[in-house]
Amino acid sequence: MFILHCSDADGKSVSLRYAPHESSLTNLDGTPVLATNGQAGAPRVWEDAVRVSPQQPGRKIENPAVLKIQLGLACNYTCSYCNQSSQVDSMAMTRTADALSFLQDLDQWLKEPPSRIEFWGGEPLLYFRKLAILVPELDKRFPEAEFCMVTNGSLLTQEILDFIVRYDICITVSHDGPGQYLRGEDPFDDPQREALLKALWNNRKHGERMQFSSVLTPNNSDPAALRRWFVEKLGDESVVTSLEGVVATHDEKALAGPGVWSAAQYQSLKDAVASSFETGEALRIPALREKAKGLMQSILMGTPSSSMGQKCGMDRSDHVAVDLHSNVLTCHNTGANAQHGLGSALQMDEIRLDTSTHWAHRECCSHCPVLQLCGGSCMYLEGEQFAQSCENEYQFGLGVLDGTLRRALGLKLESVEGDVRRPTRRKVISILAQA
Ligand code: SF4
Ligand code: SF4
Repeated sequence: MFILHCSDADGKSVSLRYAPHESSLTNLDGTPVLATNGQAGAPRVWEDAVRVSPQQPGRKIENPAVLKIQLGLACNYTCSYCNQSSQVDSMAMTRTADALSFLQDLDQWLKEPPSRIEFWGGEPLLYFRKLAILVPELDKRFPEAEFCMVTNGSLLTQEILDFIVRYDICITVSHDGPGQYLRGEDPFDDPQREALLKALWNNRKHGERMQFSSVLTPNNSDPAALRRWFVEKLGDESVVTSLEGVVATHDEKALAGPGVWSAAQYQSLKDAVASSFETGEALRIPALREKAKGLMQSILMGTPSSSMGQKCGMDRSDHVAVDLHSNVLTCHNTGANAQHGLGSALQMDEIRLDTSTHWAHRECCSHCPVLQLCGGSCMYLEGEQFAQSCENEYQFGLGVLDGTLRRALGLKLESVEGDVRRPTRRKVISILAQA
């Protein structure tokens, strides 16, 4: 349980009790802060999430609800904080023809329609010939399934655009707006690519079938400024810009560069995120809006943390990531030829997710005021890579918590009191040369 010390519009101190494991937010006298207006309904029965760990591996099931197809990890960009680059060497190479055998094998373990099928790279449009085999056939088999793809948008052609429209693929374009230099070239700098991106947006914006999505990094951490950048670029106030989240550190390169923030940069992040709720900009940014909504709902419904899985959902048995050899992977960001290759989808009963750690097994997450907002960062990171990713998530979460309180209650979060535990960090001991 934590005490949230806040100030109201007149600068008066107001303190609230927040218990993330029970999702209760009360005044210090125990009265609830949020009125349910009698809409709470009958008490809900919550199912416990499976708490995966190497000792208690998770399982995967046939006919998953979410199928993530890894086309390959190659990319034409070299983002400086890429969460896949450390995995590229462990990727099992697949050829275009493997898409055909993949579809044949699929008959054996995917008979029910998934609700969503995602196509992943690397950069998925590098693998357009694979997509041209997979998508029409999967559309025939599972017309009800939603198709989604995350791309850097730099390889669009008219042919690809027509294909996306024809198969109604929901598109997320990864782009960091003013911070794009951390990823590589800006496709908006090339008039032809810019025209294609605009044409795609103008087609896909109807029915919410496209968004631009950015990663918050130390010098590019203002979600409202990011949104303005895209509004101006697209010349469209309605452009949907979201966030992939705050930068994580999946390798030493990210730990030596854009994954590490100074205290001042964290403060700017928190201020920018919190004030975007006050101005209402955050409500136009799906990732922020959904986080705040989820937090409010958890408090209104008393969502117990025992029902919470990991933030990305890949600890769930009904979320399955595979490559075109039908290798089941920890997630679509990993390769099959090392520890993240979990076995074959053709023997789904044998799959054991033994590479990952549910947040409940991490002391810091069990003592974290933003647990309900974060969901435990990446489940397979350990050591300093986890510690730094966790710190980034923590500071971002505090910004969202503050923003949600400002928007919902008119209270500004000043500090958090309680048994907050942070992960153990790598200690750097400098050795001074003796004179
Ligand atoms: S911020 Fe860190 S400690 Fe808190 S839930 Fe996320 S990963 Fe766990
Ligand atoms: S396990 Fe989840 S959070 Fe970690 S890299 Fe994979 S999808 Fe991302």
